[in-house]
Amino acid sequence: MGSGVMIGIDLGTTNCCVAVLQGGSPTIINSRQGQRTMPSVVAFADNGDELVGVTAQRQAVTNPNRTIYGVKRLIGRKFKEPSMQSWNKSVAYDLCAAANGDAWVKTRDGEFSPQEISAILLREIKDVAEDYLGEPVSSAVITVPAYFNDGQRQATKDAGKIAGLEVKHIVNEPTAAALGYGIDKDREQTIAIFDLGGGTFDVTIMRSADGVFEVLATHGDTFLGGDDFDHALMEYLLDEFENDFQHDLRDDPVALQRLKDACETAKKELSSTPTTSINLPFICTGPSGPMHLRHDMLERELLEDLCSELLDRLDEPCHQALDDAGLTADEVDQVLLVGGMSRMPGVQLKVEEIFGKISSRDVNPDEIVAIGAATQCAIMTGELQDVILLDVTPHSLGVRVKGGRMSRLIAKNTTVPTSEKKLFATTSDDQDFVEITVYQGESEMVDDNTLLGRFILGDIPKRKAGEINVEVTFLIDADGVVSVTAKETLTGKQASVKISPSGGLTATQIDEASGRGPRRAAVG
Ligand code: AMP
Repeated sequence: MGSGVMIGIDLGTTNCCVAVLQGGSPTIINSRQGQRTMPSVVAFADNGDELVGVTAQRQAVTNPNRTIYGVKRLIGRKFKEPSMQSWNKSVAYDLCAAANGDAWVKTRDGEFSPQEISAILLREIKDVAEDYLGEPVSSAVITVPAYFNDGQRQATKDAGKIAGLEVKHIVNEPTAAALGYGIDKDREQTIAIFDLGGGTFDVTIMRSADGVFEVLATHGDTFLGGDDFDHALMEYLLDEFENDFQHDLRDDPVALQRLKDACETAKKELSSTPTTSINLPFICTGPSGPMHLRHDMLERELLEDLCSELLDRLDEPCHQALDDAGLTADEVDQVLLVGGMSRMPGVQLKVEEIFGKISSRDVNPDEIVAIGAATQCAIMTGELQDVILLDVTPHSLGVRVKGGRMSRLIAKNTTVPTSEKKLFATTSDDQDFVEITVYQGESEMVDDNTLLGRFILGDIPKRKAGEINVEVTFLIDADGVVSVTAKETLTGKQASVKISPSGGLTATQIDEASGRGPRRAAVG
């Protein structure tokens, strides 16, 4: 994978968008259907074909168990996490536990890691871009929610690899948005990027001046997005239907899929009109024949009431990000809204409440992240000069020490790339190895944080407790990916690992998946 064009990809929970820099300005590449974004949906058809994007979305109602959406929510998650259990209940396809406990997708076609499903989307994007450009595409900048942890970033890189793309850089979505927005604005300014997509919420505070884009702080919630708003409305209508007809639709995947689509459409409509209606004839068959789900006069106010808890969850990450940046809301010059959900008037009102100002309206929230990713490609190839991007790590990093406490080496919101060292002494006599356990998170106690990985530095000289020192070095690269080295200072013996997350795919699994290519085999 050497020469070839580099593309910028916004690999969204709900939609993907791809852009490339042409003649100095970023251009969105249309999907095969001529749309500027592509639904992040993959399906397996009866003839064994993989369907991607609009084609997959269109047949979702008739093929609900083999139509997979929202897979970005699964990346880096364990099957037994409560969030995965509730996701499993609310989608028509099945989740399962991989051998290492990761949440995977299960259909009658097989079991798939979220990386493989994401790779199907990326492969389609690569193909479409190649058709458009008339030359090979070999590499990409892919954006991820700023709040993605190390494992989720590595998984995204692995998805790229499976799709035959060298992922040159992982950029945080809000950072990309600011880059896409601010590139031709040379005024010094502080920008808050409020990014509410289909599955995740991020808020980032940035300063831009003289071509330097510096992230000051970032915060978010990787499990709060548009799907939750759809589900809030769905739950209301499911309860209403059950009360009216004593019939629970929750075990009927086809009905659930139809209702989900209808709720999402209604939610979107309520962003521009005060009322709408939902009408799903023949939603199921009851003891006395076909039943219909109907709700006339669905009001925007009702949706906002149903979603009030979700809207309230937007407060804390914004205040935390401002605090971490050492700023008050007054000191923010511009608020950029990113992500489709930011079109909801209730969300915009919330943003105004928090930041005390109206958000910038001259941005297309669906495209700005991909535009920023393409801009980053141009910075990396040298096509665009005098622009520097300084991003931060969203989580603190440390190692486990006595009493299950976390000794922090790198604090959250430190500019990356970065590296820090700390000395640790042995704690028992004649100890001949040390185990380094690496965690990411803000709690003093490691059990409340995320385990990134562990490794052992063995054969160290046996001495009295405290006489042997081990120097631990953490390195976070510009993609936010972590490596750790431990060195025994007396003999200089060292061990180092690129942290492979406690989940994720092995190199062999990635190779196997890349070799598989699009599936065209017949399925039973
Ligand atoms: P993204 O991941 O940024 O593509 O965001 C997709 C989410 O935005 C989905 O949950 C969509 O339902 C939601 N969305 C898109 N357009 C609108 C709209 N006009 N009003 C409310 N939500 C919207």
